[in-house]
Amino acid sequence: MKINAIIDSLIYDQESGSLLYKESRYLLIRPETIIGFQKAIEESLKEKADEKFYTGGFTGGFLSTKKYKELHSYSDREIIDFMMKMGAEIGWGRFKLEKYDRDKKILKVSVKDSPFATAYGKADKGVCHLTRGVMAGMGSALFEQNCTGKEIACAAKGDERCVFVIKGK
Ligand SMILES: [Zn+2]
Repeated sequence: MKINAIIDSLIYDQESGSLLYKESRYLLIRPETIIGFQKAIEESLKEKADEKFYTGGFTGGFLSTKKYKELHSYSDREIIDFMMKMGAEIGWGRFKLEKYDRDKKILKVSVKDSPFATAYGKADKGVCHLTRGVMAGMGSALFEQNCTGKEIACAAKGDERCVFVIKGK
């Protein structure tokens, strides 16, 4: 049995210095690098910075959900489970689906040990904008409409885990 299906399937191309999973390129990056960037952007853009990170995450989450759903011919539930598992396997924390209501277009996901919250340190609001964006991108691909994403609990605020609520419009 594979311990980490993603890492075990990564293809390393020494020539180009690239890591590929199912022909999509991935890169390993320290959370401090991302948070360093996030804090620098926050200094100049204030709250608007949050949405920039959210947008980046959204793009990745939307593309991945669409790609892997089609590639494996997954049902909605199967692609959600795949994304929850993949989140942990690429080191973004332990993802758990808390709620999925296709009719009401609501998705609720919790993440334990978010690397972004840890790297950020103490904050008075949610700081995991990348993950929030990825989850909203996943919701948008599933519900086939643009979703909003909120982080209603965050480890950086002292909550036990980060919780994301994604809603279709
Ligand atoms: Zn968080």
